[in-house]
Amino acid sequence: MILDSYRHKGLRKQLVETIRKKGIEEKNILKAIDTVPRHLFMDSSFLEFAYEDKPFPIGSGQTISQPYTVAFQTELLKIKKGDKVLEVGTGSGYQACILMELGARVYTIERQKNLYLKTKSFLPSIGYKPKLISYGDGYKGLPAYAPFDKILVTAGAPHIPDTLIDQLIPGGILVIPVGTDIQIMKRIIKIDENNHKEEDHGTFRFVPLLTKKADD
Ligand code: SAH
Repeated sequence: MILDSYRHKGLRKQLVETIRKKGIEEKNILKAIDTVPRHLFMDSSFLEFAYEDKPFPIGSGQTISQPYTVAFQTELLKIKKGDKVLEVGTGSGYQACILMELGARVYTIERQKNLYLKTKSFLPSIGYKPKLISYGDGYKGLPAYAPFDKILVTAGAPHIPDTLIDQLIPGGILVIPVGTDIQIMKRIIKIDENNHKEEDHGTFRFVPLLTKKADD
């Protein structure tokens, strides 16, 4: 495995500074970005790009999200130590590791089998252990493990699925980018079984959330 060198640590400090300047204030989120070795989540030929604040291809037509976007979505979730969190779109597993650094118990689901298999074996190899890495359609959530304190969707969704709101505890938070070409970052706060409130938090660009498995 490629080591985490002083050079990588130095580049990570610069990345943290970039993200802080873009408006991320939460100290523990900045610390998590400083801790997780993002270059290990990318193919070795792309190492020099690992600490730019940009998304990057991870194979199967998917991307590892831009670090700022990871930090922004994480901030909206208001993660508390011990929170039970569902992530839809495991991808490289980078976002899941940021959540684990904040003390979340992470359940994550990916619909591309090759990415699922790769990330499921990779994360433990660098010392991260999600509660569950699952293969399937995250649009349906994970009813067998619900309810969750927080749910994070890391792909652009055509609309807000009621099934995900159903799987939150009262007071729980869903963060989901909604839209086709470009997405509006929505934060949904569940009030009780029948009510929730919805907030908009700017525009972003994500790979699409697919409802059909790529390898079907
Ligand atoms: N969180 C990831 C970013 C992943 S990009 C990271 O930190 O690297 C979005 C991911 O969502 C892709 O891997 C894509 O395959 C996955 N995805 C798309 N539709 C999905 C669905 N319906 N259920 C689960 N995962 C999905």
